[in-house]
Amino acid sequence: MVKDGFTSKIKEISEQNPNLCMQCGTCSASCTGIGAMEELPRQVMRLLQLGKDKVLESPSIWMCTTCLTCTARCPRGIDIARVMEALRVVNLRQGNEVLVLEDIPLELLTEVPQMALTSGFRKLSA
Ligand code: SF4
Ligand code: SF4
Repeated sequence: MVKDGFTSKIKEISEQNPNLCMQCGTCSASCTGIGAMEELPRQVMRLLQLGKDKVLESPSIWMCTTCLTCTARCPRGIDIARVMEALRVVNLRQGNEVLVLEDIPLELLTEVPQMALTSGFRKLSA
């Protein structure tokens, strides 16, 4: 669905302008998480240009590790990692949490390093 204001909200949160993207594909070619992504970073940017909020359902935005490689290489100076973060923020504000404490098995909670849990909750929970 195309929603008025959707891309504007992402622009506001990320302080980046997806409309500057010229679809060169450098971000996709550079992405360190590409093997786990369905929509490549370039495609995420295109969906945003078109105002398609279905991009919020893309697993790719959760797979992004914020490694910043794409950001460093984008010839248009777009901080793509911040755009990915904005998409996660909107999702979390809508209550679409990926990591829910109650769903984590107790044995896993006791085995996983605390830092991993903290990082996970910072990224995947509201
Ligand atoms: S590297 Fe930048 S300009 Fe090229 S496709 Fe990615 S976001 Fe667009
Ligand atoms: S910041 Fe995210 S989208 Fe960009 S290269 Fe790294 S994993 Fe890929």
